[in-house]
Amino acid sequence: MPRGRAFDVIVIGAGSVGAPAAVSLAESGLRTLVVDELPSAGQGSNKRAIGGLRATHSDPAKIRVSLRSLEIFSTWQERHGDKIEWHKGGYIFVAYREEEEKSLKELLVFQKASGLNIDWLDRRELLEVVPDLNPHGLVGGTLSPDDGNASPLLAAHAFFSRARRLGAEFRFDERVTGLVMNGGRVAGVRTDKGEYGAQAVIDAAGGAAADVALMAGIEIPVRPDSHEAAVTEPVTRFLEPMIVDIRPAPGSANYYFYQHDTGQVIFCITPSPSIWGHDVRETSGFLPMVAKRMVETIPRLKNLRVRRTWRGLYPMTPDGLPVVGESREAPGFILAAGMCGQGFMLGPGIGELLSRLVRKDLTREDGQTLSYFSPYRDFSGQEKLK
Ligand SMILES: Cc1cc2nc3c(=O)[nH]c(=O)nc-3n(C[C@H](O)[C@H](O)[C@H](O)COP(=O)(O)OP(=O)(O)OC[C@H]3O[C@@H](n4cnc5c(N)ncnc54)[C@H](O)[C@@H]3O)c2cc1C
Repeated sequence: MPRGRAFDVIVIGAGSVGAPAAVSLAESGLRTLVVDELPSAGQGSNKRAIGGLRATHSDPAKIRVSLRSLEIFSTWQERHGDKIEWHKGGYIFVAYREEEEKSLKELLVFQKASGLNIDWLDRRELLEVVPDLNPHGLVGGTLSPDDGNASPLLAAHAFFSRARRLGAEFRFDERVTGLVMNGGRVAGVRTDKGEYGAQAVIDAAGGAAADVALMAGIEIPVRPDSHEAAVTEPVTRFLEPMIVDIRPAPGSANYYFYQHDTGQVIFCITPSPSIWGHDVRETSGFLPMVAKRMVETIPRLKNLRVRRTWRGLYPMTPDGLPVVGESREAPGFILAAGMCGQGFMLGPGIGELLSRLVRKDLTREDGQTLSYFSPYRDFSGQEKLK
């Protein structure tokens, strides 16, 4: 392999995971190549994300990884100078029924024990934080004040720029079509433009991660399902936290929304049943469905004008946890897939974990995290806040 085509590690995908992973890999001195079939960083599912960043999860691995991601996002501008529109507004999970009150309070005990800054607020306390919440039937909710939001596109660009400054190389408009294998080990990738060598190849291909894994002969249970989102006109700040309502309703499971740093309200809803596949054309059913639910929760929103809707993919796993780890069948092939609805918030934390995995410098805590995310786990569990 000519020197210009030989790397220590190749990352397939410059998305929510691949772009920050390139930063961590290059920071640790690894000669890093990132290949993406799209024209620039973050153009896949990454730019469809609405920008929510939370460590409020229901398992220790995602909590740990996201706490680290939050540190990276929240200090990025002061450390590196790029504005990524980080805003520490917190997350609120509202309860309008006993069912949600009970499940949120049950989780709270575990979340606090896992190091999360989170509390239960009763109706009056919650209305002090969000005075516009519909008070009728409101029981209370959890508030995690350290969560926040940022711009997925600005963040991807910031990660890309920093990784490049650190020496990582990027090939855009180039599609990985196969893997180069040598004696059962991965030895590089083949693309529609050439071949590159590396002892480690990371599959961070988002909604296409299962297809890429098949190139190594591995089946992973990652299937894209589509979600829609929208953004309103910008208005003066009136809402601090992201509001998440996990009550099911006809046609939808949870929905969530927040006011971005630049004033727009951005929102999306989880369709029920799920809509599987790669189709990213908007539907006409989304906006009336989500708008009705949001206006019920914050009646004042009825005055806002929606500017744009879009649809994107969650790379879903059966249990809602990512699939991260090295393949036993094809050593050197590392999965960083199945981020579900949380790839943006998990990305930087997973990126650092991948760097330690490639350098075989894992901590004891990493071992625990990787056991939760293992490609070989039993996928029958069900994550509560996916
Ligand atoms: C409506 C909506 C709202 C969301 N909101 C949030 C949110 O608030 N917070 C959050 O954390 N997450 C959110 N998500 C989820 C988030 O977008 C995904 O989890 C995340 O983007 C997945 O990251 P990824 O790096 O795995 O995939 P991607 O960002 O899609 O990156 C994968 C990259 O791989 C490239 N690729 C694929 N195959 C190949 C190949 N063969 N060769 C070369 N390149 C290839 C693609 O072009 C792509 O750029 C949301 C998603 C949607 C749809």
